[in-house]
Amino acid sequence: MERGTYFDFYEVGTGIYAAIVHDGAGALGNAGIVDLGDRTLVFDTTQSIPAAQELKNVAKKLTGQEASLVVNSHRHNDHVLGNQVFADATIISTEVTRSVMANRLPAFLEFAKAHPEYPNQIRNRLSDASLSDQGRWEVERDLGDTEHLAAHLPEYVPTLPTLCFENQMHIYGSAREAQLLTYGSAHSASDAFMYLPEDKVLFVGDLAFIGYHPSMADGNPELWVTILGRILELEFDTVIAGHGPVGNRSHVEQTKHYVEHFIETARSNSETVNADGIPIEYRDWRGESVYFGNLKFLNGRYGRS
Ligand SMILES: [Zn+2]
Repeated sequence: MERGTYFDFYEVGTGIYAAIVHDGAGALGNAGIVDLGDRTLVFDTTQSIPAAQELKNVAKKLTGQEASLVVNSHRHNDHVLGNQVFADATIISTEVTRSVMANRLPAFLEFAKAHPEYPNQIRNRLSDASLSDQGRWEVERDLGDTEHLAAHLPEYVPTLPTLCFENQMHIYGSAREAQLLTYGSAHSASDAFMYLPEDKVLFVGDLAFIGYHPSMADGNPELWVTILGRILELEFDTVIAGHGPVGNRSHVEQTKHYVEHFIETARSNSETVNADGIPIEYRDWRGESVYFGNLKFLNGRYGRS
């Protein structure tokens, strides 16, 4: 394991690295580095320009060549805002992700510039005596990430993917094959993942969360369940998710159960998913405000207030 300022880098297969973020340091979303042999690929670029620079530097150090291929798993800031550091590379996403980014990325940066008070608003929440330990952890993490973003706000240049696919793209490197796949909208409008079939490694972006509440409000929970079912049909052992440590098949199953649990209980209006508390099996997961956001979203989706 190599420890950086923004990530810990784990070699999960020969020439395959998971970049797992340090919480609150600014990057927010995990990333990956894959040595394809004749080319180096970086999977997701995080929310932070300095973190993306670290990713780029470490990719070169570990593989001996500059990253020439970059993948954006989906349109969320914590996976794409570092794109500009890789402006010389080919940046790949789905067509849908690129078209959503083209609208949302400049709009987000304008919005953030117009609201310089935002980090202080988060800081003020720390004085709330009713915060749980989990709640406090989350506010401190958000504060760290938001202050980092605010400090670099003038530097951001919206940088869009330059090569798009609809359903899949296979990249044949001299050392291994990487398959980029999407089964549609799950966690966002379009979620792509990368499958290394010879290595049985899956970079899933935010299709799975490990030890963090998966946010559902920007996607399609019902399709998410179907899509994770299809992903589980693939042969893989190692999973790198957008949030959380390096995982395995059981973590993809866990995310599927979480989303299923929300849908079933929202549909049946059972007491298991409710505003009184997080179910016991998810209580040690990070990001508890996401649980309540999911609750609100699904109640709206199923016609409850
Ligand atoms: Zn996301």
